Amino acid sequence: MPPEPATPAAAVRIVLVEPSHPGNIGAAARAMKTMGFDELVLVRPERFPDPQAQWRAAGAEDVVDSARVVDDLDEAIADCGWVVGTSARARRVPWPVETAEQFAARLADEGLGGRPAAILFGRETSGLSNEELNRCNLHVVIPAHPDYSSLNLAMAVQVVCYELHKPMADAESHERRPESHWDRRLASAREMDGFYRHLEEVLVAIDFHDPEAPRQTLTRLRRLFNRVRADATEVAILRGVLKHVEQAIQRNP
Ligand code: SAH
Repeated sequence: MPPEPATPAAAVRIVLVEPSHPGNIGAAARAMKTMGFDELVLVRPERFPDPQAQWRAAGAEDVVDSARVVDDLDEAIADCGWVVGTSARARRVPWPVETAEQFAARLADEGLGGRPAAILFGRETSGLSNEELNRCNLHVVIPAHPDYSSLNLAMAVQVVCYELHKPMADAESHERRPESHWDRRLASAREMDGFYRHLEEVLVAIDFHDPEAPRQTLTRLRRLFNRVRADATEVAILRGVLKHVEQAIQRNP
């Protein structure tokens, strides 16, 4: 993963993965700004910058202008403590799912854990891939009609931002947000990624995992650890354990 970008404050970051229509980028920026959010990251947008993005942004051109364009998802989420994928569809390996409203209540209650939270939105045509959804701590769904539950991309951004804004708009609950009740920052997506790679190496070294016959074990382990919301120190301890396993193997090959 690339180096973490320096993010001064924990914030909510909206990440659009491979959006194809620039109009949706502008409309998403407007949706964000009306709810008080301004951090937009675009992963490989098909057409950007583009006049259509500016038109659809109306009064939110500043959000469009300051949008960060990146080449891969890792770069967009490296420093984030929460990585949340939005999806209207259920997956083969079920992941923890909350409605946008439930997730907003959770964030208002638990705070951001000292790191930005990334909310991922997928492609207009195909949504987020399974691999991208596996990177997430949680999936967020906007409850919609079962016959047709797929919202337009920018409208999905609007609904999620609205739900996140609701508890924050309540000044009292904002003040009560326990940003610092935990003694450590949440592990970042980059730290978790380093842990997963290390874990896989060790599982191969001890013949627990065969990379030639991958089953869903690694996906399930990823889901387990992503569910826990480990902090940076806990992940460092786990890495220390893995290192000692490696040293033990070296001593007794
Ligand atoms: N056809 C795609 C949906 C694309 S809609 C599919 O079947 O997956 C574009 C994006 O808007 C989705 O990737 C998701 O991020 C968001 N979105 C649309 N409807 C949603 C819903 N009901 N709940 C959560 N996110 C939704």
